[in-house]
Amino acid sequence: MRYSYRWSHKKDDRKIPKFNCPRCLRRFFSHSGMNRHYRLECGDVPRFKCPYCEMRTKYTQAVYRHVRTKHRGMTPAFLRLF
Ligand SMILES: [Zn+2]
Ligand SMILES: [Zn+2]
Repeated sequence: MRYSYRWSHKKDDRKIPKFNCPRCLRRFFSHSGMNRHYRLECGDVPRFKCPYCEMRTKYTQAVYRHVRTKHRGMTPAFLRLF
Protein backbone atom coordinates (compact mmCIF):
# COMPACT_ATOMS: atom_id res chain seq x y z
CA MET A 1 0.00 0.00 0.00
CA ARG A 2 1.21 3.45 -0.85
CA TYR A 3 0.57 6.53 1.09
CA SER A 4 0.92 9.85 -0.53
CA TYR A 5 1.83 12.74 1.63
CA ARG A 6 1.13 16.31 0.90
CA TRP A 7 4.45 17.91 1.50
CA SER A 8 3.28 21.41 1.66
CA HIS A 9 0.16 23.41 1.36
CA LYS A 10 2.01 26.65 1.79
CA LYS A 11 0.91 27.93 -1.57
CA ASP A 12 -2.69 27.90 -0.48
CA ASP A 13 -2.40 29.95 2.65
CA ARG A 14 0.20 32.36 1.42
CA LYS A 15 -0.99 35.85 2.00
CA ILE A 16 -0.78 38.42 -0.71
CA PRO A 17 -0.39 42.06 0.22
CA LYS A 18 -3.20 43.84 -1.47
CA PHE A 19 -2.75 47.44 -0.51
CA ASN A 20 -0.65 49.37 -2.97
CA CYS A 21 1.08 52.59 -2.17
CA PRO A 22 -0.27 55.00 -4.80
CA ARG A 23 3.10 56.71 -5.12
CA CYS A 24 5.72 53.96 -5.32
CA LEU A 25 3.41 50.93 -5.78
CA ARG A 26 4.97 49.03 -2.90
CA ARG A 27 2.57 46.48 -1.47
CA PHE A 28 1.29 46.23 2.06
CA PHE A 29 -0.79 43.80 4.07
CA SER A 30 -2.85 46.44 5.76
CA HIS A 31 -4.31 49.77 4.83
CA SER A 32 -2.84 51.38 7.94
CA GLY A 33 0.60 50.01 7.09
CA MET A 34 0.35 51.47 3.63
CA ASN A 35 -0.86 54.79 5.02
CA ARG A 36 2.01 54.97 7.49
CA HIS A 37 4.49 54.25 4.73
CA TYR A 38 2.87 56.81 2.44
CA ARG A 39 3.02 59.54 5.07
CA LEU A 40 6.38 58.75 6.64
CA GLU A 41 8.71 57.01 4.26
CA CYS A 42 7.49 57.34 0.71
CA GLY A 43 8.51 60.07 -1.68
CA ASP A 44 9.74 63.31 -0.23
CA VAL A 45 11.01 62.38 3.20
CA PRO A 46 12.02 65.03 5.70
CA ARG A 47 15.77 64.66 5.85
CA PHE A 48 16.66 67.34 8.32
CA LYS A 49 15.81 67.63 11.97
CA CYS A 50 15.95 70.37 14.56
CA PRO A 51 18.69 69.50 17.10
CA TYR A 52 16.61 70.95 19.94
CA CYS A 53 13.23 69.28 19.34
CA GLU A 54 11.47 66.75 17.12
CA MET A 55 10.71 69.12 14.25
CA ARG A 56 11.61 67.63 10.85
CA THR A 57 11.65 69.13 7.40
CA LYS A 58 12.93 68.67 3.90
CA TYR A 59 14.78 71.96 3.84
CA THR A 60 17.77 73.11 5.84
CA GLN A 61 16.59 76.71 5.59
CA ALA A 62 13.35 75.72 7.29
CA VAL A 63 15.33 74.32 10.24
CA TYR A 64 17.35 77.51 10.51
CA ARG A 65 14.21 79.59 10.41
CA HIS A 66 12.55 77.28 12.93
CA VAL A 67 15.49 77.50 15.37
CA ARG A 68 15.59 81.28 15.08
CA THR A 69 11.90 81.59 15.92
CA LYS A 70 11.29 78.67 18.29
CA HIS A 71 14.62 78.34 20.06
CA ARG A 72 15.73 81.91 20.49
CA GLY A 73 19.33 82.24 21.59
CA MET A 74 20.31 78.79 20.27
CA THR A 75 22.77 78.36 17.43
CA PRO A 76 20.93 77.71 14.16
CA ALA A 77 21.91 74.17 13.17
CA PHE A 78 20.34 71.03 11.75
CA LEU A 79 20.77 67.29 12.04
CA ARG A 80 20.90 65.19 8.90
CA LEU A 81 18.73 62.10 9.39
CA PHE A 82 20.22 60.10 6.52
ZN1 LIG B 1 5.32 54.42 -1.40
ZN1 LIG C 1 13.10 72.79 17.30
